[in-house]
Amino acid sequence: MFVAGIRSIDRVRGGGWLDCPNCHEHASQDVVDEMRFLALLGYRFTPFARRRVLVCRRCGFRRPAEAEMPVLNTGGRRLQRAWLVPVGLLPFAVLAAGTLFVVNRHPPSIEDVLSFTRDTAEPVAPVSLRRPLSWNASPQTDSPPPSYTVSDPTQRMVITLRRITDSDSLAQLLANHYMDDNGINDSGVPTSTPATTTVKIAGTTGLTLHFTYTSTGEPAQTALYAFFHDGIGYTLSYVARGQAQFDTLRAVSDTMNASLSFTGTETPAPCPSPSPSPSASPSPSTGASPSPGAKPSSSPSPSLAVGVTPSPTFPAFATSPQPCAGGQATAIPSPSGTPKP
Ligand SMILES: [Zn+2]
Repeated sequence: MFVAGIRSIDRVRGGGWLDCPNCHEHASQDVVDEMRFLALLGYRFTPFARRRVLVCRRCGFRRPAEAEMPVLNTGGRRLQRAWLVPVGLLPFAVLAAGTLFVVNRHPPSIEDVLSFTRDTAEPVAPVSLRRPLSWNASPQTDSPPPSYTVSDPTQRMVITLRRITDSDSLAQLLANHYMDDNGINDSGVPTSTPATTTVKIAGTTGLTLHFTYTSTGEPAQTALYAFFHDGIGYTLSYVARGQAQFDTLRAVSDTMNASLSFTGTETPAPCPSPSPSPSASPSPSTGASPSPGAKPSSSPSPSLAVGVTPSPTFPAFATSPQPCAGGQATAIPSPSGTPKP
């Protein structure tokens, strides 16, 4: 049984009369193109050879045609020639072209378009992440909550990591802070917390939500992630203004979220000072050595050195779910007591 290899096929391309050199009769002769194909299981991929022969209808004698072609009397009919074109390969060529098209149509990774660099969110948080190299990145610890912001040069895509200590649960974190990026120029912002989805981020399980609105007349959207680390809450928001930015920022968020990792444990939040004067906290407090409540291995990273003063590195505000350093707190201040700018 024929499986794969070379297959010979005759194509009768015409005929005529001449004196057969074998049977010596003036007999009808077939002009045959012997085609040789590469074939597999009966499928002919491509012809690769063609040889023209004459076949005597009377005696069946087969011989190369060249010598006798001039004396062949075809009665005026033209002889065609068999095609030597790889018709059998056409479906494969179409398939290959189609595959190439699909492959090229597949959206390129954002990293083909934007260069990323590894950065740290310190001093806001012991967080390492990858961000677009050409975008601005700035930490901010002057007003609560401390935040690390990455934005594209046009400021139409803004990513903000906030370190938040006023929430005890993911749900509370989102409910309290899903509108942190929205202001008076935005309309149509949901009035209650949008539906959330569980997500893996920064080596932990967090929640994410997403909503769209209008920002100075343009479509805008916020994708927000919330997670905890060592009792400290974090929100990470991706705000895109203008429909054209939505897909880009979503691709950037895929890369950034996947790259997000904590490089150290949290510095315990400082105890709220009884006198909420801002100048009071940075004073070198004698009781600022690692608190009794802190884990022994609380400072593996050099940037979180032992004996760090509580406030300047990772400021915390209001109530914190984790034990505070210093231990001189007398009462938990109400959230409304938090100084707000
Ligand atoms: Zn013959």
